Amino acid sequence: MKKHNFYAGPAILPEEVKRKTSASILDFAGMGLSVMEISHRSPQWVECMDKAFSLVNELLRIPEGYKVLFLTGGASSQFYMSAMNLLNDSEVAGYINTGTWSAKAIKEAQLYGTVKEIGSSKDDNYTYIPSVLDSQGIKYAHYTSNNTVFGTQFKELPDVNVPLIADMSSDIFSKEIDINRHDLIYCGAQKNMGPAGVTLVIVKESALGKVTRDIPTILDYRTHISKGSMFNTPPVLPIYVSMLTMQWVKDNGGVAAMNLRNEAKAQLLYDEIDRNDLFKGFVATKDRSTMNACFGLKDDTKKDIFLDMTREAGIVGIEGHRSVGGFRASMYNAMDIESVEVLVSVMKSFSETYG
Ligand SMILES: *Cc1c(COP(=O)(O)O)cnc(C)c1O
Repeated sequence: MKKHNFYAGPAILPEEVKRKTSASILDFAGMGLSVMEISHRSPQWVECMDKAFSLVNELLRIPEGYKVLFLTGGASSQFYMSAMNLLNDSEVAGYINTGTWSAKAIKEAQLYGTVKEIGSSKDDNYTYIPSVLDSQGIKYAHYTSNNTVFGTQFKELPDVNVPLIADMSSDIFSKEIDINRHDLIYCGAQKNMGPAGVTLVIVKESALGKVTRDIPTILDYRTHISKGSMFNTPPVLPIYVSMLTMQWVKDNGGVAAMNLRNEAKAQLLYDEIDRNDLFKGFVATKDRSTMNACFGLKDDTKKDIFLDMTREAGIVGIEGHRSVGGFRASMYNAMDIESVEVLVSVMKSFSETYG
């Protein structure tokens, strides 16, 4: 039976990408060798790496003055690396706290300077996107563009007059973004870009070199800029699969087309959550994420019955995060609307039987 993969991350990849990857694991670029067993200095690999860079540049329309990097360590490493490279001990950074991931980012940034929470939705268990209260005196404002755990998403950029830093791990390539407002964007690949193991960083070069502390060579963005992300051995397989995924995005109309697809999928599911008397959405309607829909049953005692029904329909990965409960349906780029239709039809038959 066809599986409908709603996992939040690591998450769904396009079928075509998986097929091409499996072929290249046996024979890459006609070399008779695996993509995993060739030198990262070989011309075949360098070509692949160049293609990955140019796809990021093209799909996200990266402006002059910005550099694209493929690093390791996940988005979690960027929590400290961003502050280490951009914030002096004597300076203040503004952070918008929208839940799990931004809270972790705040904790790490505090090691390198002063963090001021310039907005938070903690008072209501992170069920909405807060507005910025006071951004006076801050060097930059950090936000998490899509809150993977609680299912909220910024629909507009935070209203501040300083450069932005964004953790876009779970909605990169899902819609167009105004890069120019940012000094730094980072994301772990495993939600909407590729498999776990590579971290995308987009940094404004002129924002670097302004901190006075000593930075270990490998943690300095300028090292990776000067070496084209090949200062040390890059994670070749995750970069390769990400490159294929970006090519798939391009072949399917680019980021703007992804946005339309994603809006349509999200609308279909949220409409059913609102229409169906047995279900309720968890977050403020205007802040609902197109990527991760968090919802539950009004009567939680029937949860296992509903989960059994989804399983029978081939649906995988919709159990909510342990800190939220209920269900979470992640609908990243690679998911077809057909999978959301299957989920909605299970919700309808559930309410016909138990409503
Ligand atoms: C998954 C996720 C992370 C953590 O990413 P790692 O690559 O595992 O470090 C950070 N931020 C957001 C928004 C996420 O969704």
